[in-house]
Amino acid sequence: MNTRPATASARSVDDHRHRVEQLLRPLAVRDVDAVPMTDALGRRLAEDVRAPVDLPVFRNSGMDGYAVRAESVAVTPVTLPLAGVVAAGQPGLAALPPGSAMKVMTGAPIPPGADCVVPVEDTRAGETTVTFERGRAAGDFVREPGTDVRAGELLTAAGTLVRPRHIAALAAVGLAALPVFRRIRAAVLTTGDELMPAGTPLGPGQIYNSNGIALGAALAANEIDVVAVEHSRDDPDEFRSALARATAAADVVFTSGGVSQGDFEVVKDVLAGRGGEFGSVAVQPGGPQGLSVVDGVPVLSFPGNPVSTMVSFEVFARPILRELGGLPPVPEHALPLRDPVRSPGGRRQFLRGRMEPDGVALASGPGSHLIAAMARADVLIDIPAEVTELAAGAIVTVWEL
Ligand code: AMP
Ligand code: MG
Repeated sequence: MNTRPATASARSVDDHRHRVEQLLRPLAVRDVDAVPMTDALGRRLAEDVRAPVDLPVFRNSGMDGYAVRAESVAVTPVTLPLAGVVAAGQPGLAALPPGSAMKVMTGAPIPPGADCVVPVEDTRAGETTVTFERGRAAGDFVREPGTDVRAGELLTAAGTLVRPRHIAALAAVGLAALPVFRRIRAAVLTTGDELMPAGTPLGPGQIYNSNGIALGAALAANEIDVVAVEHSRDDPDEFRSALARATAAADVVFTSGGVSQGDFEVVKDVLAGRGGEFGSVAVQPGGPQGLSVVDGVPVLSFPGNPVSTMVSFEVFARPILRELGGLPPVPEHALPLRDPVRSPGGRRQFLRGRMEPDGVALASGPGSHLIAAMARADVLIDIPAEVTELAAGAIVTVWEL
């Protein structure tokens, strides 16, 4: 376990989170896009949407059966002449001659003059007649126009998070596009001379760049538009130009690596020179954190260890990004620990855990390089800063990953 003492000046997790929220809060105000219905899933409606037509659109049958006048089948059994057959979508509908029946399919228009539908199960068809075993009351199995929603009525309110059920209703009234808030645009910038893209052979001392892809995925999973994922070597000029492209394209930029106490901390060196704040947060993993504003764009700098990067995103960025996007908060649960835990005093610790039927199990040791172990976790276990030891059975708060 890392036993470095928390520095006296370390900010608390809540303080740092609050600072991140202040920086990102202005992203709540965004333009409105009209997106095709096929792209609307998971988006937040920017305006009230009213039904342009009645639903049902016209008076139609709720059953496969026979449209009649209820009075014609008041006494059963009774045999009536068959005056025609109406399929769904059939134009040029004739009126029902008095004292007769017309066969109708579900969703087909009800012929004028009919006031109910007798389901086919209650009838026997002859050549040119149909015999009714039981009657029906006026209105039975007739779907009147506007009984679901009337033209002009509110269908989905501004602010609604569009789910498949909303799309079903909006598509049913014939809307092709929806007004939604533009998504927050994010860019990811990774740093490190040792990092190689996936698919290339590794030389001595090299590792794969996982944080770029991982942060992109974490953002996309929270409905953020990832507009760029770039990598820079630990070279200030290269980092500066990548940063300029990122801030030009995005509402918010995330960097990974280059913020600790090493010799080549390119992120910290460049951004601290532009007014960024770099310091220690009393958290494990993810202690070194940076916050900057470059050309009006907030830049969140996470340490490069893969678990630190992911936990930093979960703890500092994900809650506010979800709030700004109108997504429900990250689910939290209070669960008993299956295993005892130890934690450094003075630092809030986020252990990787797995929910089991009898509580939360540890999925990983505390090392912030243990990214394969994190893949076996489905929660972060939140151990408060002042706690140094917890026995099995102690109740802890977990955050769903
Ligand atoms: P740094 O924060 O730059 O000192 O990096 C800390 C550790 O995380 C080092 O072992 C880096 O090799 C590793 N690391 C930094 N960035 C990445 C990345 N994008 N993908 C995978 N590992 C990284
Ligand atoms: Mg580095």
